[in-house]
Amino acid sequence: MEIFTGSFTQQDPIPDEGIAAALQVLRHGRLHRYNTAPGEVAETALLEEEFAALTGAKYCLAVASGGYALATALRACGVQPGDRVLTNAFTLAPVPGAIAGLGAVPVFVGVTQGLVIDLDDLAAKLPQARVLMLSHMRGHICDMDALMALCDAAGVTVIEDCAHTMGARWNGTLSGRHGRMACYSTQTYKHVNSGEGGLLISDDAAAMARAIMLSGSYMLFDRHRAAPPPEAFATIRYETPNISGRMDNLRAAILRPQLRDLEAQCARWNDRYRVVEDGLADTPGLTRIDRPAAEHFVASSYQFLLLDWPDDAIRAVLSRCAARGVELKWFGAPEPHGFTSRYDSWRYAPCTPMPDSDRILRGIVDMRLPLTFSLEDCALIARIIRAEVSAVFQSA
Ligand SMILES: *Cc1c(COP(=O)(O)O)cnc(C)c1O
Repeated sequence: MEIFTGSFTQQDPIPDEGIAAALQVLRHGRLHRYNTAPGEVAETALLEEEFAALTGAKYCLAVASGGYALATALRACGVQPGDRVLTNAFTLAPVPGAIAGLGAVPVFVGVTQGLVIDLDDLAAKLPQARVLMLSHMRGHICDMDALMALCDAAGVTVIEDCAHTMGARWNGTLSGRHGRMACYSTQTYKHVNSGEGGLLISDDAAAMARAIMLSGSYMLFDRHRAAPPPEAFATIRYETPNISGRMDNLRAAILRPQLRDLEAQCARWNDRYRVVEDGLADTPGLTRIDRPAAEHFVASSYQFLLLDWPDDAIRAVLSRCAARGVELKWFGAPEPHGFTSRYDSWRYAPCTPMPDSDRILRGIVDMRLPLTFSLEDCALIARIIRAEVSAVFQSA
């Protein structure tokens, strides 16, 4: 019986160039982004400039975490305590947490079998809110042309959570370039790794001026390079509270070389995804996720469905795979566990049952695909899942 011995949580090392740049920052000691020598441009300001160039956004702000980027985007777009904010029922806890954290109220929108936001449910709920926090959860991108048409017609502002779509595209347009603002995470399990960190992009000068003030720039906003001109701050600088959440120069130094490698890394993720996807074709009882042709995803993780399976049978698959070294996560588990939780487990937010979405959520099984896995590893993992899913399915 084959056993897999790799680690599902082991990412690539930081590239040598990033280590060298980090050492330089450590040696000179100017880690705070506004602590620069005469004539020096902070690593953080350079990172923002480079990420803006990479995405084609006018403005970029580097912050302390992806969750902080989400909360800052909500505030910068004018969300107030008590406001209702639409968001995905299938997402990760930092998303409803960012909404609830500023006293706003998440309104959950259902999920389709393609693991994207249900546009019919969204259309029905649009009149309830002025902002949609759209989470491209696990890298699945909905029909962005249809979504933007719906939201534009309803006057609803879209903020994108691109924690899993850095480098991905819909119909040729980069993920993060459809909404008013987009948020990225540079936390260890995302597409670039600085331990913790976040990036925020926008073309909207007023929203970005507010975000820069919110992040804790004091009156040093003119030290930012991928920022709106000083006029944009004329009144905003007096009206915007400081909620410190800056990125530092050490993390920025580690990230800059990784951004240069991003495209190649994305291709490596997708190579791994395809091996798993092919290895699971025609597995009895297992539903793979259809990916539309317009979706140019970056698959840093893999999902499949065990649709309408009894809980015990799903648990049996997970434990049999775990016994062979394959770590799967079940998003449908009744109790929140590890990184996974369901919309009905976020009890601080009101929730109305969504039977169609619940059926999908109950069946979602998830697995990370770190780049430390070889293609052979991925083929082995697929053989193990296939064998264990088939065995449990046939005995049920
Ligand atoms: C990781 C993640 C975030 C937040 O990122 P942090 O940097 O961990 O705060 C937001 N949304 C999704 C879907 C995520 O997976």
